Amino acid sequence: MAINSVKGTHDIIGSEAMGYQYIENVFKAVCELYGYQPLVTPILEHTEVFTRATGEASDVVRKEMYTFLDKGGRSLSLRPEGTAGAIRCLVEHKLAATNDLPLKYYYFGPVFRYERPQLGRYRQFIQAGIEAVGEDSPYLDAEAIVIAMRTLDFLGFRDLKVKVNSLGDQNSREAYREALRDYFRPHLADMCADCRERFELNPLRMLDCKVPADIELGKLAPKISDYLSEEAEKRFYKTLSLLNALGIEYEVDPGLVRGLDYYGQVVFEVHAKSASGVDYGALLGGGHYDGMLSDFGGDKSIDHGVGFAMGVERLYSILQEGGQLDGVDPGLDIYLMPLGEEALPDCFELAEQIRGLGYTVSLPYQKMKMGAMFKRAERAKAKFALIVGENEIALGEVQVKNLESKEQFPVKIEELEQTLDSLFGEEEEHHHE
Ligand code: AMP
Repeated sequence: MAINSVKGTHDIIGSEAMGYQYIENVFKAVCELYGYQPLVTPILEHTEVFTRATGEASDVVRKEMYTFLDKGGRSLSLRPEGTAGAIRCLVEHKLAATNDLPLKYYYFGPVFRYERPQLGRYRQFIQAGIEAVGEDSPYLDAEAIVIAMRTLDFLGFRDLKVKVNSLGDQNSREAYREALRDYFRPHLADMCADCRERFELNPLRMLDCKVPADIELGKLAPKISDYLSEEAEKRFYKTLSLLNALGIEYEVDPGLVRGLDYYGQVVFEVHAKSASGVDYGALLGGGHYDGMLSDFGGDKSIDHGVGFAMGVERLYSILQEGGQLDGVDPGLDIYLMPLGEEALPDCFELAEQIRGLGYTVSLPYQKMKMGAMFKRAERAKAKFALIVGENEIALGEVQVKNLESKEQFPVKIEELEQTLDSLFGEEEEHHHE
Protein backbone atom coordinates (compact mmCIF):
# COMPACT_ATOMS: atom_id res chain seq x y z
CA MET A 1 0.00 0.00 0.00
CA ALA A 2 1.19 3.49 -0.80
CA ILE A 3 2.30 5.62 2.12
CA ASN A 4 1.31 9.26 1.90
CA SER A 5 2.27 12.33 3.87
CA VAL A 6 0.58 12.90 7.23
CA LYS A 7 -2.78 14.67 7.10
CA GLY A 8 -2.37 18.43 7.30
CA THR A 9 1.30 18.37 6.26
CA HIS A 10 2.54 19.16 2.79
CA ASP A 11 5.59 18.69 0.61
CA ILE A 12 7.33 21.72 -0.85
CA ILE A 13 9.01 20.71 -4.07
CA GLY A 14 11.57 22.24 -6.41
CA SER A 15 10.50 25.60 -7.80
CA GLU A 16 7.84 25.81 -5.08
CA ALA A 17 10.59 25.51 -2.50
CA MET A 18 12.40 28.29 -4.34
CA GLY A 19 9.34 30.45 -3.74
CA TYR A 20 9.48 29.65 -0.02
CA GLN A 21 13.20 30.38 0.07
CA TYR A 22 12.62 33.66 -1.70
CA ILE A 23 10.08 34.65 0.96
CA GLU A 24 12.57 33.64 3.64
CA ASN A 25 15.34 35.67 2.01
CA VAL A 26 13.23 38.79 1.70
CA PHE A 27 12.09 38.43 5.32
CA LYS A 28 15.67 37.91 6.50
CA ALA A 29 16.94 40.91 4.52
CA VAL A 30 14.23 43.16 5.92
CA CYS A 31 14.82 42.01 9.52
CA GLU A 32 18.52 42.65 9.13
CA LEU A 33 17.78 46.17 7.89
CA TYR A 34 16.37 46.79 11.36
CA GLY A 35 19.25 45.22 13.22
CA TYR A 36 17.49 41.94 14.05
CA GLN A 37 19.58 38.76 14.15
CA PRO A 38 18.52 35.20 13.38
CA LEU A 39 17.48 32.85 16.17
CA VAL A 40 17.18 29.12 15.60
CA THR A 41 15.66 27.28 18.54
CA PRO A 42 14.70 23.59 18.67
CA ILE A 43 11.38 22.46 17.27
CA LEU A 44 11.16 20.13 20.26
CA GLU A 45 10.77 21.66 23.74
CA HIS A 46 9.70 20.54 27.18
CA THR A 47 5.92 20.78 27.15
CA GLU A 48 6.17 23.15 30.07
CA VAL A 49 7.74 25.81 27.83
CA PHE A 50 4.39 26.20 26.13
CA THR A 51 2.04 25.52 29.02
CA ARG A 52 3.89 28.07 31.09
CA ALA A 53 4.22 30.68 28.42
CA THR A 54 0.82 30.65 26.85
CA GLY A 55 -1.17 29.69 29.90
CA GLU A 56 -2.79 26.28 30.11
CA ALA A 57 -5.95 27.84 28.81
CA SER A 58 -5.03 28.94 25.32
CA ASP A 59 -6.70 26.88 22.61
CA VAL A 60 -3.41 26.21 20.91
CA VAL A 61 -1.87 24.71 24.04
CA ARG A 62 -4.96 23.03 25.42
CA LYS A 63 -6.21 21.34 22.28
CA GLU A 64 -3.81 21.67 19.40
CA MET A 65 -0.39 20.69 20.66
CA TYR A 66 1.50 17.61 19.53
CA THR A 67 2.60 16.31 22.92
CA PHE A 68 4.17 12.94 23.71
CA LEU A 69 6.38 11.17 26.20
CA ASP A 70 9.87 10.42 24.91
CA LYS A 71 11.67 7.17 25.73
CA GLY A 72 12.97 8.76 28.92
CA GLY A 73 9.45 9.56 30.05
CA ARG A 74 9.74 13.34 29.54
CA SER A 75 6.75 15.20 28.23
CA LEU A 76 7.87 16.96 25.07
CA SER A 77 5.97 19.00 22.53
CA LEU A 78 6.48 20.12 18.97
CA ARG A 79 6.39 23.89 19.10
CA PRO A 80 2.98 25.33 18.19
CA GLU A 81 4.40 28.86 17.83
CA GLY A 82 7.76 30.61 18.02
CA THR A 83 7.60 33.05 20.93
CA ALA A 84 7.74 30.71 23.93
CA GLY A 85 10.84 28.89 22.72
CA ALA A 86 12.52 32.19 21.89
CA ILE A 87 11.89 33.55 25.37
CA ARG A 88 13.02 30.27 26.96
CA CYS A 89 16.24 30.60 24.99
CA LEU A 90 16.87 34.27 25.82
CA VAL A 91 16.39 33.61 29.53
CA GLU A 92 18.35 30.34 29.58
CA HIS A 93 21.37 32.02 27.99
CA LYS A 94 20.97 35.18 30.08
CA LEU A 95 21.20 37.23 26.92
CA ALA A 96 19.69 40.27 28.60
CA ALA A 97 22.64 40.43 30.99
CA THR A 98 25.30 40.52 28.31
CA ASN A 99 23.64 42.41 25.46
CA ASP A 100 22.11 45.81 24.89
CA LEU A 101 18.35 45.87 25.15
CA PRO A 102 16.10 45.31 23.42
CA LEU A 103 17.19 41.88 22.23
CA LYS A 104 16.06 41.72 18.63
CA TYR A 105 15.72 38.36 16.87
CA TYR A 106 13.91 36.86 13.93
CA TYR A 107 13.09 33.24 13.16
CA PHE A 108 11.77 31.16 10.26
CA GLY A 109 10.71 27.56 10.67
CA PRO A 110 8.00 24.94 11.05
CA VAL A 111 5.38 24.92 13.79
CA PHE A 112 2.78 22.23 14.53
CA ARG A 113 -0.86 22.44 15.50
CA TYR A 114 -3.43 19.69 15.61
CA GLU A 115 -6.11 21.73 13.87
CA ARG A 116 -8.73 20.67 11.36
CA PRO A 117 -6.96 21.10 8.01
CA GLN A 118 -8.72 23.36 5.53
CA LEU A 119 -7.84 26.06 3.01
CA GLY A 120 -4.88 27.98 4.40
CA ARG A 121 -4.76 25.82 7.53
CA TYR A 122 -2.20 23.08 8.02
CA ARG A 123 -0.98 20.92 10.87
CA GLN A 124 2.63 21.60 10.01
CA PHE A 125 3.24 25.06 8.62
CA ILE A 126 6.00 27.63 8.57
CA GLN A 127 6.05 30.77 10.63
CA ALA A 128 8.36 33.72 10.05
CA GLY A 129 8.49 35.99 13.04
CA ILE A 130 10.36 38.49 15.15
CA GLU A 131 10.71 39.12 18.88
CA ALA A 132 12.06 42.31 20.42
CA VAL A 133 12.51 41.76 24.12
CA GLY A 134 13.56 43.67 27.22
CA GLU A 135 12.34 47.18 26.57
CA ASP A 136 8.95 48.80 26.86
CA SER A 137 8.50 51.37 24.13
CA PRO A 138 5.79 52.40 21.69
CA TYR A 139 8.60 52.92 19.18
CA LEU A 140 9.52 49.28 19.39
CA ASP A 141 5.86 48.26 19.12
CA ALA A 142 5.42 50.43 16.04
CA GLU A 143 8.63 49.08 14.55
CA ALA A 144 7.29 45.52 14.69
CA ILE A 145 4.36 46.57 12.52
CA VAL A 146 6.70 48.48 10.22
CA ILE A 147 8.90 45.40 9.74
CA ALA A 148 5.88 43.29 8.85
CA MET A 149 4.64 45.89 6.38
CA ARG A 150 8.01 46.39 4.74
CA THR A 151 8.36 42.63 4.29
CA LEU A 152 4.94 42.36 2.69
CA ASP A 153 5.55 45.41 0.52
CA PHE A 154 8.88 44.04 -0.65
CA LEU A 155 7.22 40.72 -1.50
CA GLY A 156 4.75 42.57 -3.71
CA PHE A 157 1.60 42.57 -1.56
CA ARG A 158 -0.85 45.38 -2.26
CA ASP A 159 -4.23 46.20 -0.75
CA LEU A 160 -3.36 45.02 2.71
CA LYS A 161 -5.73 45.46 5.57
CA VAL A 162 -3.93 46.28 8.80
CA LYS A 163 -6.00 45.96 11.95
CA VAL A 164 -4.70 47.34 15.23
CA ASN A 165 -6.12 47.56 18.70
CA SER A 166 -4.90 48.23 22.20
CA LEU A 167 -5.49 45.84 25.07
CA GLY A 168 -4.12 48.48 27.42
CA ASP A 169 -2.26 47.85 30.64
CA GLN A 170 -3.17 45.34 33.32
CA ASN A 171 -5.65 47.67 35.03
CA SER A 172 -7.42 48.39 31.75
CA ARG A 173 -7.72 44.69 31.03
CA GLU A 174 -8.93 43.84 34.54
CA ALA A 175 -11.72 46.40 34.25
CA TYR A 176 -12.56 45.17 30.77
CA ARG A 177 -12.67 41.50 31.82
CA GLU A 178 -15.22 42.34 34.46
CA ALA A 179 -17.29 44.30 31.93
CA LEU A 180 -17.20 41.35 29.56
CA ARG A 181 -18.26 38.93 32.28
CA ASP A 182 -21.18 41.21 33.14
CA TYR A 183 -22.18 41.32 29.49
CA PHE A 184 -21.86 37.60 28.75
CA ARG A 185 -23.20 36.24 32.06
CA PRO A 186 -26.90 36.25 31.09
CA HIS A 187 -26.11 34.46 27.78
CA LEU A 188 -23.62 31.99 29.14
CA ALA A 189 -25.95 28.98 29.17
CA ASP A 190 -26.47 29.30 25.39
CA MET A 191 -22.81 29.66 24.55
CA CYS A 192 -20.36 26.94 23.46
CA ALA A 193 -18.49 24.85 26.04
CA ASP A 194 -15.21 26.58 25.19
CA CYS A 195 -16.73 29.98 25.81
CA ARG A 196 -18.08 28.88 29.17
CA GLU A 197 -14.56 27.91 30.10
CA ARG A 198 -13.10 31.11 28.63
CA PHE A 199 -15.58 33.06 30.75
CA GLU A 200 -13.76 31.85 33.85
CA LEU A 201 -10.20 31.83 32.58
CA ASN A 202 -10.01 34.86 30.31
CA PRO A 203 -13.23 36.31 28.90
CA LEU A 204 -11.26 38.28 26.27
CA ARG A 205 -10.92 35.04 24.40
CA MET A 206 -14.68 34.74 24.08
CA LEU A 207 -14.34 37.45 21.41
CA ASP A 208 -12.11 35.08 19.43
CA CYS A 209 -14.75 32.31 19.32
CA LYS A 210 -15.46 30.80 15.89
CA VAL A 211 -19.04 29.62 16.66
CA PRO A 212 -21.43 31.82 14.60
CA ALA A 213 -23.95 32.51 17.38
CA ASP A 214 -21.14 33.42 19.76
CA ILE A 215 -19.59 35.71 17.15
CA GLU A 216 -22.93 37.54 16.90
CA LEU A 217 -23.08 37.96 20.66
CA GLY A 218 -19.50 39.18 20.66
CA LYS A 219 -20.30 41.95 18.21
CA LEU A 220 -22.42 43.79 20.76
CA ALA A 221 -20.02 43.20 23.66
CA PRO A 222 -18.37 46.17 25.38
CA LYS A 223 -15.23 47.44 23.66
CA ILE A 224 -11.81 47.57 25.29
CA SER A 225 -11.41 51.14 24.02
CA ASP A 226 -13.95 52.26 26.64
CA TYR A 227 -11.90 50.66 29.42
CA LEU A 228 -8.41 51.88 28.59
CA SER A 229 -6.71 53.83 31.34
CA GLU A 230 -5.62 57.30 30.37
CA GLU A 231 -2.02 56.16 30.25
CA ALA A 232 -2.80 53.17 28.04
CA GLU A 233 -4.82 55.37 25.72
CA LYS A 234 -1.94 57.83 25.41
CA ARG A 235 0.42 54.99 24.69
CA PHE A 236 -1.85 53.66 21.96
CA TYR A 237 -2.14 57.07 20.31
CA LYS A 238 1.62 57.38 20.40
CA THR A 239 2.01 54.09 18.57
CA LEU A 240 -0.61 55.10 16.01
CA SER A 241 1.04 58.48 15.48
CA LEU A 242 4.32 56.70 14.72
CA LEU A 243 2.53 54.61 12.09
CA ASN A 244 0.94 57.75 10.67
CA ALA A 245 4.32 59.42 10.44
CA LEU A 246 5.59 56.52 8.33
CA GLY A 247 2.50 56.52 6.13
CA ILE A 248 1.29 53.11 7.27
CA GLU A 249 -2.45 52.80 6.85
CA TYR A 250 -4.43 50.84 9.42
CA GLU A 251 -7.84 50.53 10.88
CA VAL A 252 -8.50 50.40 14.59
CA ASP A 253 -10.54 47.26 15.24
CA PRO A 254 -11.90 47.36 18.78
CA GLY A 255 -12.86 43.69 18.48
CA LEU A 256 -9.31 42.49 17.86
CA VAL A 257 -8.12 40.74 21.02
CA ARG A 258 -5.84 37.82 20.04
CA GLY A 259 -5.59 34.72 22.14
CA LEU A 260 -2.70 35.01 24.56
CA ASP A 261 -2.97 36.13 28.17
CA TYR A 262 0.33 37.91 27.82
CA TYR A 263 -0.83 40.38 25.23
CA GLY A 264 -1.22 43.98 26.33
CA GLN A 265 -0.94 47.40 24.68
CA VAL A 266 -0.89 47.14 20.91
CA VAL A 267 -2.05 44.01 19.06
CA PHE A 268 -2.32 43.73 15.30
CA GLU A 269 -3.20 41.55 12.35
CA VAL A 270 -2.71 41.93 8.62
CA HIS A 271 -5.16 40.51 6.09
CA ALA A 272 -5.10 40.25 2.30
CA LYS A 273 -7.10 38.50 -0.36
CA SER A 274 -5.54 36.72 -3.33
CA ALA A 275 -5.94 38.09 -6.88
CA SER A 276 -9.05 35.95 -7.42
CA GLY A 277 -10.50 36.93 -4.07
CA VAL A 278 -9.58 33.89 -1.98
CA ASP A 279 -9.28 34.65 1.71
CA TYR A 280 -6.73 32.39 3.40
CA GLY A 281 -7.20 34.07 6.77
CA ALA A 282 -4.82 36.44 8.54
CA LEU A 283 -1.36 36.75 7.01
CA LEU A 284 0.17 37.56 10.33
CA GLY A 285 -0.62 38.41 13.89
CA GLY A 286 1.31 39.92 16.72
CA GLY A 287 1.47 42.37 19.53
CA HIS A 288 3.10 43.61 22.67
CA TYR A 289 3.39 41.24 25.62
CA ASP A 290 4.33 41.59 29.28
CA GLY A 291 5.20 39.05 31.93
CA MET A 292 6.56 36.21 29.85
CA LEU A 293 10.24 36.53 30.76
CA SER A 294 9.63 36.23 34.48
CA ASP A 295 7.55 33.11 33.90
CA PHE A 296 10.78 31.54 32.66
CA GLY A 297 12.78 32.91 35.59
CA GLY A 298 13.87 36.03 33.74
CA ASP A 299 14.27 39.55 35.07
CA LYS A 300 10.96 41.15 36.05
CA SER A 301 12.25 44.67 35.50
CA ILE A 302 12.68 44.14 31.76
CA ASP A 303 9.70 41.88 31.25
CA HIS A 304 8.36 43.25 27.99
CA GLY A 305 8.37 42.15 24.42
CA VAL A 306 6.74 42.65 21.07
CA GLY A 307 6.60 40.37 18.08
CA PHE A 308 4.63 38.93 15.24
CA ALA A 309 4.42 35.68 13.32
CA MET A 310 3.40 35.32 9.72
CA GLY A 311 2.10 32.22 8.03
CA VAL A 312 4.45 31.51 5.15
CA GLU A 313 2.05 29.10 3.34
CA ARG A 314 -0.53 31.87 3.16
CA LEU A 315 2.03 34.34 1.84
CA TYR A 316 3.13 31.80 -0.72
CA SER A 317 -0.40 30.96 -1.94
CA ILE A 318 -1.29 34.59 -2.54
CA LEU A 319 2.01 35.55 -4.15
CA GLN A 320 1.96 32.47 -6.34
CA GLU A 321 -1.54 33.21 -7.59
CA GLY A 322 -0.67 36.86 -8.19
CA GLY A 323 2.34 35.91 -10.31
CA GLN A 324 4.82 37.63 -7.98
CA LEU A 325 6.88 34.44 -7.74
CA ASP A 326 7.09 33.85 -11.49
CA GLY A 327 10.69 34.98 -11.80
CA VAL A 328 11.90 33.20 -8.69
CA ASP A 329 13.08 30.06 -10.47
CA PRO A 330 15.86 31.51 -12.64
CA GLY A 331 16.24 28.40 -14.79
CA LEU A 332 19.57 27.05 -15.99
CA ASP A 333 22.22 29.17 -17.66
CA ILE A 334 23.38 26.34 -19.88
CA TYR A 335 22.19 22.94 -21.00
CA LEU A 336 25.10 20.97 -22.37
CA MET A 337 24.33 18.60 -25.24
CA PRO A 338 26.72 15.76 -26.02
CA LEU A 339 26.09 14.42 -29.51
CA GLY A 340 26.68 10.71 -29.23
CA GLU A 341 28.27 8.52 -26.60
CA GLU A 342 31.84 9.66 -27.42
CA ALA A 343 31.11 13.28 -26.53
CA LEU A 344 29.72 12.41 -23.10
CA PRO A 345 33.01 12.20 -21.16
CA ASP A 346 34.23 15.48 -22.70
CA CYS A 347 30.96 17.15 -21.86
CA PHE A 348 31.08 15.83 -18.31
CA GLU A 349 34.44 17.58 -17.88
CA LEU A 350 33.42 20.71 -19.76
CA ALA A 351 30.35 21.08 -17.54
CA GLU A 352 32.63 21.08 -14.50
CA GLN A 353 34.83 23.80 -16.03
CA ILE A 354 31.85 26.00 -16.83
CA ARG A 355 30.45 25.56 -13.31
CA GLY A 356 33.84 26.73 -12.10
CA LEU A 357 33.15 29.97 -13.96
CA GLY A 358 29.96 30.38 -11.98
CA TYR A 359 27.37 29.36 -14.59
CA THR A 360 24.69 26.81 -13.80
CA VAL A 361 24.93 23.79 -16.06
CA SER A 362 23.03 20.56 -16.50
CA LEU A 363 23.56 17.77 -19.01
CA PRO A 364 22.19 14.30 -19.75
CA TYR A 365 23.93 11.38 -18.06
CA GLN A 366 23.54 9.06 -21.01
CA LYS A 367 23.29 9.21 -24.79
CA MET A 368 20.18 11.04 -25.88
CA LYS A 369 18.59 12.25 -29.11
CA MET A 370 18.96 15.91 -30.05
CA GLY A 371 15.21 16.56 -29.91
CA ALA A 372 14.95 15.04 -26.45
CA MET A 373 17.83 17.20 -25.21
CA PHE A 374 16.18 20.36 -26.53
CA LYS A 375 12.97 19.41 -24.72
CA ARG A 376 14.94 18.97 -21.51
CA ALA A 377 16.71 22.28 -22.03
CA GLU A 378 13.37 24.00 -22.46
CA ARG A 379 11.84 22.39 -19.36
CA ALA A 380 14.93 23.42 -17.38
CA LYS A 381 14.39 26.99 -18.66
CA ALA A 382 17.96 26.99 -20.01
CA LYS A 383 19.11 30.19 -21.70
CA PHE A 384 21.80 28.62 -23.88
CA ALA A 385 22.58 25.20 -25.24
CA LEU A 386 26.18 24.17 -25.78
CA ILE A 387 26.32 21.43 -28.37
CA VAL A 388 29.38 19.20 -28.53
CA GLY A 389 29.80 16.46 -31.15
CA GLU A 390 32.71 14.60 -32.64
CA ASN A 391 33.37 17.48 -35.08
CA GLU A 392 33.47 20.06 -32.34
CA ILE A 393 35.82 17.95 -30.25
CA ALA A 394 38.16 17.57 -33.23
CA LEU A 395 38.10 21.34 -33.85
CA GLY A 396 38.35 22.28 -30.16
CA GLU A 397 34.99 24.13 -30.33
CA VAL A 398 31.46 24.06 -29.06
CA GLN A 399 28.30 25.24 -30.79
CA VAL A 400 26.55 27.88 -28.70
CA LYS A 401 22.84 28.25 -29.28
CA ASN A 402 20.76 31.03 -27.82
CA LEU A 403 17.57 29.19 -26.96
CA GLU A 404 15.46 32.30 -27.14
CA SER A 405 16.63 33.86 -30.42
CA LYS A 406 17.67 30.44 -31.83
CA GLU A 407 20.87 32.04 -33.09
CA GLN A 408 23.76 29.54 -33.23
CA PHE A 409 27.50 30.00 -33.67
CA PRO A 410 30.75 28.11 -32.98
CA VAL A 411 33.10 29.18 -30.19
CA LYS A 412 36.66 27.99 -29.55
CA ILE A 413 37.00 26.30 -26.18
CA GLU A 414 39.71 28.72 -25.10
CA GLU A 415 37.38 31.65 -25.87
CA LEU A 416 34.38 30.13 -24.12
CA GLU A 417 34.80 31.98 -20.83
CA GLN A 418 35.01 35.34 -22.57
CA THR A 419 32.04 34.53 -24.80
CA LEU A 420 29.88 33.40 -21.90
CA ASP A 421 30.82 36.48 -19.89
CA SER A 422 29.80 38.72 -22.73
CA LEU A 423 26.61 36.77 -23.50
CA PHE A 424 25.50 36.74 -19.88
CA GLY A 425 26.73 40.29 -19.37
CA GLU A 426 24.35 41.40 -22.10
CA GLU A 427 21.61 39.36 -20.50
CA GLU A 428 22.19 41.16 -17.23
CA GLU A 429 21.96 44.55 -18.91
CA HIS A 430 18.85 43.35 -20.62
CA HIS A 431 17.31 42.49 -17.25
CA HIS A 432 18.15 45.87 -15.84
CA GLU A 433 16.55 47.86 -18.66
P1 AMP B 1 -0.88 32.82 15.43
O1 AMP B 1 0.40 32.30 16.00
O2 AMP B 1 -2.06 31.92 15.66
O3 AMP B 1 -1.13 34.26 15.73
O4 AMP B 1 -0.69 32.75 13.84
C1 AMP B 1 0.15 33.63 13.15
C2 AMP B 1 0.00 33.39 11.68
O5 AMP B 1 0.34 32.04 11.37
C3 AMP B 1 -1.44 33.52 11.18
O6 AMP B 1 -1.73 34.87 10.89
C4 AMP B 1 -1.42 32.67 9.95
O7 AMP B 1 -0.87 33.39 8.85
C5 AMP B 1 -0.48 31.58 10.31
N1 AMP B 1 -1.20 30.37 10.75
C6 AMP B 1 -1.79 30.13 11.94
N2 AMP B 1 -2.30 28.89 12.00
C7 AMP B 1 -2.05 28.32 10.79
C8 AMP B 1 -2.31 27.03 10.22
N3 AMP B 1 -2.92 26.07 10.90
N4 AMP B 1 -1.89 26.80 8.95
C9 AMP B 1 -1.24 27.76 8.25
N5 AMP B 1 -0.96 28.98 8.73
C10 AMP B 1 -1.36 29.27 9.99
